[in-house]
Amino acid sequence: MAEDDCIFCKIVAGELPSHPIYEDEHTIGFLDISPWVSGHSLVIPRRHSRNLWEVEGEDLAHTAAAAKAVATTMRDRIGAEGVNLLNSCEAAAWQTVFHFHIHVIPRFSGDPLRLPGHPGEADQDALAELAAKLRA
Ligand code: AMP
Ligand code: ZN
Repeated sequence: MAEDDCIFCKIVAGELPSHPIYEDEHTIGFLDISPWVSGHSLVIPRRHSRNLWEVEGEDLAHTAAAAKAVATTMRDRIGAEGVNLLNSCEAAAWQTVFHFHIHVIPRFSGDPLRLPGHPGEADQDALAELAAKLRA
């Protein structure tokens, strides 16, 4: 079940230290070691899977529910005014730890986080063509 050399499996097993903030039967949550803002946390299924493409549906649902619980705790206990959830799937999308996880990032007005991308312009015909390809 645990994957050799997976740091998050080691955190689940208690073989690596962490600062836990949440746990239930299927998931755990802990503070990110390199926070983007104070309170930045990760929620993971106890069972190893590589990422969004491989996580089994029930673990995905449990982890999403845990992320909501942690987001609510951030509002109630540390005064978060908003929350971003982030998941990165594969290196092309910035994934660096290959055990499925959802970042739960509390947000405060005036905090230093900025979107890394900028909204672009889209041609309507190109949008229609792309939507058809994705629907197919
Ligand atoms: P990602 O880049 O989306 O795969 O996210 C991996 C996250 O795990 C990063 O934000 C790291 O700072 C965080 N991280 C790596 N090692 C640890 C650790 N031992 N304890 C807590 N967070 C960690
Ligand atoms: Zn793992």
